[in-house]
Amino acid sequence: MIDATKDTSRHQGLRKKLIDELQQKGITDEQVLQAMRAVPRHLFFDSVFTERAYEDKAFPIAAGQTISQPFTVAYQSQLLRVKPREKVLEIGTGSGYQAAILHQMGAKVYSIERQRTLFSTASALLRELGYTSIQTFYGDGFEGLPTYAPFDKIIITAGASVIPEKLLHQLKTGGFMVIPFGDKSQKMLRITRNGDHQFSQEEFGDFTFVPLLPGKVN
Ligand code: SAH
Repeated sequence: MIDATKDTSRHQGLRKKLIDELQQKGITDEQVLQAMRAVPRHLFFDSVFTERAYEDKAFPIAAGQTISQPFTVAYQSQLLRVKPREKVLEIGTGSGYQAAILHQMGAKVYSIERQRTLFSTASALLRELGYTSIQTFYGDGFEGLPTYAPFDKIIITAGASVIPEKLLHQLKTGGFMVIPFGDKSQKMLRITRNGDHQFSQEEFGDFTFVPLLPGKVN
């Protein structure tokens, strides 16, 4: 459970302001807004940045990575259209914040991180905050999780310069992947699996992510 002394009414007030800002920027999905209202983003931060946790900005976490900007988290979550109990695979656990949002939206969350330090910190934090049903894995997201496949939805939270083929084949028919695709900056894509070897693609706005990289780092 989230300790009330760590999530004060001041934090909740700041969070409400952030939600208003996200609505002004075009986030309309109530399920997403509710989840972002509920999850205390400031607890997913290095303490030096805690005071700024409710600004709509990305911030550094360990291993040279970032916690995505709230607007980006909201945007990807909105595109994902999570239904209760759907199996969602996230690539790039990072701070664990996006995983917590997906859990709060009702998904059964599986999340992979290639940096061991981030995997350990985020796994411990998610447990401590009571998100015990989120399953975290240390590994290379390009491989996905064949043992747990197929998934209803897959979300990639790093910029991909190639589409991870194996992941497309871990989607259920009718399921889709939300992926920022591109080298220096990325276009948000939603790729739907329409049949065994049939896929279709929709294109959304431009974003900048840290890169999706192969292999894992100890
Ligand atoms: N979803 C995170 C965002 C973290 S930034 C959050 O809410 O905080 C993207 C993360 O993707 C980084 O932690 C990076 O290490 C990780 N990453 C990059 N390539 C990966 C890969 N092939 N497999 C798993 N994680 C990867």
